[in-house]
Amino acid sequence: MIHIFYSENFNIDLGLLRYLHPFDGMKFQKVFDDIQSNSNIKFHSPENPISLTLVNEFVNELIELLIIEKVTILRALEVPNIPFVGFSYLDKKILSPMRYGVSATLQATKLALTGKNCWNLAGGYHHASQHNMEGFCIYNDIGITYQELIKSGELINTDQVLIIDTDAHHGNGNARTFLDNDKVKILDVYNSDIYPQSEFTRERIDFPVPVSSGISGDEYLAKYQKALNTLSSDYKVAFVVAGTDVLASDKLGHMKLTIDDVVEREKITLERLKALDIPVVFLGGGGYSKESAQAISAAINRISEL
Ligand SMILES: [Zn+2]
Repeated sequence: MIHIFYSENFNIDLGLLRYLHPFDGMKFQKVFDDIQSNSNIKFHSPENPISLTLVNEFVNELIELLIIEKVTILRALEVPNIPFVGFSYLDKKILSPMRYGVSATLQATKLALTGKNCWNLAGGYHHASQHNMEGFCIYNDIGITYQELIKSGELINTDQVLIIDTDAHHGNGNARTFLDNDKVKILDVYNSDIYPQSEFTRERIDFPVPVSSGISGDEYLAKYQKALNTLSSDYKVAFVVAGTDVLASDKLGHMKLTIDDVVEREKITLERLKALDIPVVFLGGGGYSKESAQAISAAINRISEL
């Protein structure tokens, strides 16, 4: 049994603007269509997006100003300036779906802390932090979730939290967010040949698994399994940034995994965390190829049987 968080509001329908970015904004809907008849899944949906008040509590003063500016948002989304598009359009079409994604990460984590394994189809915005927005990430959902759970007392300062980042890119936003918090440990499997090439991230990651462009599924899974085996059971909850940009069909990740490899990856992740008795919150992360949705649904259908 797995608890899936999905909302129609996650979907980013850009119309013609979709040609400006390789991101398939409708993949959440495609995954939902593929898994909705699975009786081993219980579905949940966030009713509201995370409020800007909570976002502003998390980010620093400069980002609080930039996060409502069209030009800086477009830069973070990696699209050129578009003169005929206003901030309100971006807010409705892209930012609001992402705030629903943040809200779902918070709700999924609250449920995970009661011992249930969860998967938010959105979220995993691992390049954003309280100091920056970049790489198609505006709000750091794990950071905002951590802030809220500390406030509510559902997590306390001494609780250890684990982040496993299997997105193809290095999680510089999570590294920056938790730079000075040694209770949050990070395992990161990433392509060291591509963006973001960040020195502080290399220094901050507790369990680094750097790999090179062109890595095969077998080599990737062997290295990842070895890293998983070193983990202890000290963690109250684990976040998994389950990006599918590791697929060979992905233009940005430069790795050679197949859909079956991604299914195997999520399976060994859940098996290891179950063995350690650590509840998990899988998060969407990146993944820009046409196979992305198919890989996610196949993985969810497989691990729902575990
Ligand atoms: Zn990525």
